[in-house]
Amino acid sequence: MRRQFSFPVLRLLPLLLWVFMTLSGCGGDDGASVESGSTPGAGNQFLRIFVRPFAGQYTNTWSFDHDLPLGTFSESDSALGSRDVLTWRGSTRVMFWGDGRFHDGYDWALPEGTPLKAVADGEVFFAGLEEPFTCGSKGAVAALIVGIRHAVAESTIYESLYVHMSRVDVAVGESVSAGQLIGLSGNTGCSFGPHLHLTVRKVTQSGDKVVVDPFGWEGGGDDPWEIYNGGVRSYWLWKEGEAPQGEYVE
Ligand SMILES: [Zn+2]
Repeated sequence: MRRQFSFPVLRLLPLLLWVFMTLSGCGGDDGASVESGSTPGAGNQFLRIFVRPFAGQYTNTWSFDHDLPLGTFSESDSALGSRDVLTWRGSTRVMFWGDGRFHDGYDWALPEGTPLKAVADGEVFFAGLEEPFTCGSKGAVAALIVGIRHAVAESTIYESLYVHMSRVDVAVGESVSAGQLIGLSGNTGCSFGPHLHLTVRKVTQSGDKVVVDPFGWEGGGDDPWEIYNGGVRSYWLWKEGEAPQGEYVE
């Protein structure tokens, strides 16, 4: 039986991504490749457990918002955070469509059909379609998603989620190895241009699943998401040389 599965923020972000990519002419349709990934600074904290979820490098079109990655644009949250995205480097990026806050993961402009890889050894806990929902002019849609649980240590558990896929090659309960093919990227669900949305979550001692930034935090001072009630610390999770591009370039 398929589990209930929903990501509130994903219902709006693909539309905004499409607007961004269309208006900025950044070529979302060709999955523009870029030279290299990001490198961490001295102020970061490290837990090097992830490999890149795809071969090569692709343009990062949206980052994790440290202020605040709540994953929803609900009324009650409207007073929180700024209207911009606060990146792991502490830089504020104005999202010119007006409101780019609350992104809970990373978007990369992967062309349709790009092989996707597990970021670490783990067990598949979700594989298939999310619950359908209405996505503007697209009507009822559902994204193909793979979710993998990574038990790094007894008290250190992370999850990775790969959204908008075109093909899923793994099944729930299956064990996967780091770098193993799990399916292909796509444009399914509430998405208006091919891309991968990757969300990383930490499973806390109490069992809560809290989104984290796989690029950590080196913005100076406290990470707003770490000190927020319900937030947690983000670590740089990429192994040496494995980081994708972690900020969108203007
Ligand atoms: Zn996204």
